[in-house]
Amino acid sequence: MIPQSATQVEPLSLIKHTSLPEDWRVQLREAYRTPQQLLSSLGFSAEQQKLMLADDQGFTTLVPKAFAKKMRPHDPTDPLLLQVLPQAGEAIVDPSFNDDPLEEARFNPMPGIVHKYQGRALLIAAGHCAINCRYCFRRHYPYSDQKRARSEWQQSLSYIEQHPDIEEIILSGGDPLALTDPQLFELITAIEAIPHIKRLRIHSRLPIVLPQRITLELCQRLENCRLTCVLVVHANHANELAIDVAQACERLRQHKVQLLNQSVLLAQINDNLASLKKLSERLFDLGIMPYYLHLPDHVAGTKHFFVSLERGQAIVAQMQACMSGYLVPKLVREEPGKLSKTLYSPA
Ligand code: SF4
Repeated sequence: MIPQSATQVEPLSLIKHTSLPEDWRVQLREAYRTPQQLLSSLGFSAEQQKLMLADDQGFTTLVPKAFAKKMRPHDPTDPLLLQVLPQAGEAIVDPSFNDDPLEEARFNPMPGIVHKYQGRALLIAAGHCAINCRYCFRRHYPYSDQKRARSEWQQSLSYIEQHPDIEEIILSGGDPLALTDPQLFELITAIEAIPHIKRLRIHSRLPIVLPQRITLELCQRLENCRLTCVLVVHANHANELAIDVAQACERLRQHKVQLLNQSVLLAQINDNLASLKKLSERLFDLGIMPYYLHLPDHVAGTKHFFVSLERGQAIVAQMQACMSGYLVPKLVREEPGKLSKTLYSPA
């Protein structure tokens, strides 16, 4: 059954952030780091919290206040809350759900690089995020092994230099925009200096969960980059896209950064026509192309979010029947060993 609140979408202008600090780094320091802090901010009593709290299975809570303010107070089924609150379902043990369902370790020629797809290489730029999403496919990723000191980036960059077939660098993590400007700009400058690289793709949830990260300095650096810059934001529900996100996206577009969205199809959150239709429409209003809808991976601790291929196909067929084609994202899944994402047609 679809929780009623999953399909309720708040007006774009609802959220005002006058009480939050301007500086995104301060906001990150002040983020909620326990479920109790988050639930108290949403008005849940101590008694209610006792009923809602579950073991975090070693994946700690991290929620910026800018994101928490978009949740509905007193609503345990809020689709934003459920993305970040540890739930009892994380304890489900199923052998078909494991720590590395995409077998990324097989495509890891050295710490910090995933070279899986032809022409592209993924660089683990940061070992942390601004938010910890409970459905994350890298929630078990060995960041401590992969996290590079800035001086160690040179090894990754040398690998890229030695592979002239790589034309596109994907900055991932963790979240690359969780790096400070000096760190990020140093990395971009080094990538720009590699002649065969043409495109820089940044995957980040920060424009959505902490939009104050999209500073003028960041936008100017991306605009002045020799490479074509694509920013893939990761929004899963229309309620994430409030006025602060709209302003961040406007700034990026003014600086010629291409914006795409990639969502994950998640039970309890967005696995219904109404939620995904509203998400696509609001993304498009913000100048973001709804590009991919990912079927969830078989990640240990995330079975309660799982949606079957058949259900995904049926929902996308419903979208296709009532929306313009450019608003309907491609339904895809990453499968271990395949040289590209698998694209599924609507049922
Ligand atoms: S921001 Fe992305 S990488 Fe970070 S926890 Fe969320 S889904 Fe995972």
